Amino acid sequence: MSIPDKQYGFFYTKADGLKLKEDLPVGKPGPGQLLLKVDAVGLCHSDLHIIYEGLDCGDNYVMGHEIAGSVAALGPETVGFKIGERVACVGPNGCGICRECRAGLDNVCKNAFLDWFGLGYNGGYEQYLLVKRPRNLVRIPDNVTSDQAAAITDAVLTPYHAVKLAGINPTSNVLIIGAGGLGINGIQIAKAFGAKITVLDKKEEARKIVKELGVSVYESLPSDVQPGSFDVCLDFVVVQPTFDLCQKYTKPKGIIIPVGLGAPKVSFDLGDLALREINILGSFWGTSNDLEEAFELVSKGLVTPKVAKAPLKELPTYIKKLKNNEYEGRVVFNP
Ligand code: NAD
Ligand code: ZN
Ligand code: ZN
Repeated sequence: MSIPDKQYGFFYTKADGLKLKEDLPVGKPGPGQLLLKVDAVGLCHSDLHIIYEGLDCGDNYVMGHEIAGSVAALGPETVGFKIGERVACVGPNGCGICRECRAGLDNVCKNAFLDWFGLGYNGGYEQYLLVKRPRNLVRIPDNVTSDQAAAITDAVLTPYHAVKLAGINPTSNVLIIGAGGLGINGIQIAKAFGAKITVLDKKEEARKIVKELGVSVYESLPSDVQPGSFDVCLDFVVVQPTFDLCQKYTKPKGIIIPVGLGAPKVSFDLGDLALREINILGSFWGTSNDLEEAFELVSKGLVTPKVAKAPLKELPTYIKKLKNNEYEGRVVFNP
């Protein structure tokens, strides 16, 4: 395979936003590193929070944090991978040697803060990606496409991590808010874990897809649902009204996981939180082991991520479409 010196990609700076560049360098893998040919990369709503709302995930990097590719070149002394092998990136890009990483909590590695793929460090909105720490690559099962794999690295991984964190099980009564890229997979995962699920989404097309999964879905909660009904509320939106709803409808001792980043800050009713001992749990992306498990869920047919595809150069059009909430599920791009 001949690898060019230059490539196109979408580069982000705080000053100029996300811009197409035709002359980005192709990295040369050093000892222990490898070069990935990007096969598919997904667009996440977090990208929009960065571009339009000033969510701070660093400066000067190629965006695109849902990445599947194939190994294009190995650096000297790089072991464990073969040229051409299909792999996906564990976005949080853990260092592998700190206490958190050693404990399997590599999604919260302090050494990799803002060194995340496509968020601080370079990501997949380019043709070739230099992978500094190949430990953060997971092999893609044969029966999973690279397009699906890209979406799995976040749109499946993140809800999977949240579902595990909440301890969802067949006795759980779960409220899920937002059935978009992440939420639609979160619903399938919670279903695979045997939970009773109620979903809210403001958009009719999204509700239609949820209905097809055989799950109860509404624009707003029906009047017969009592406050304090849910063991777990997974909020894939998180603005003040959705957070307030979660607090009102969570049971005593229940769990709220605000996965969405829809508002930079939300407030809560402290008295109610204390008196009913409600738990608010932060949840960031997922661990490398969670990603292995997320692939297994898809490979076994328990979760089917809905992905549409487009050429990478059409990314700006799809960013506008996602901003206007004009499509459902995930769109992945092929560079
Ligand atoms: P998306 O745009 O694909 O989906 C959002 C869905 O929520 C849409 O179906 C929309 O109709 C619905 N919605 C929006 N506002 C609503 C409201 N007020 N009430 C009911 N439904 C509403 O977004 P996505 O890519 O799935 O991302 C969801 C959120 O998760 C984003 O805020 C993103 O930044 C965040 N995120 C967090 C993590 C994490 O690690 N915590 C990881 C990835 C994404
Ligand atoms: Zn994301
Ligand atoms: Zn670490």
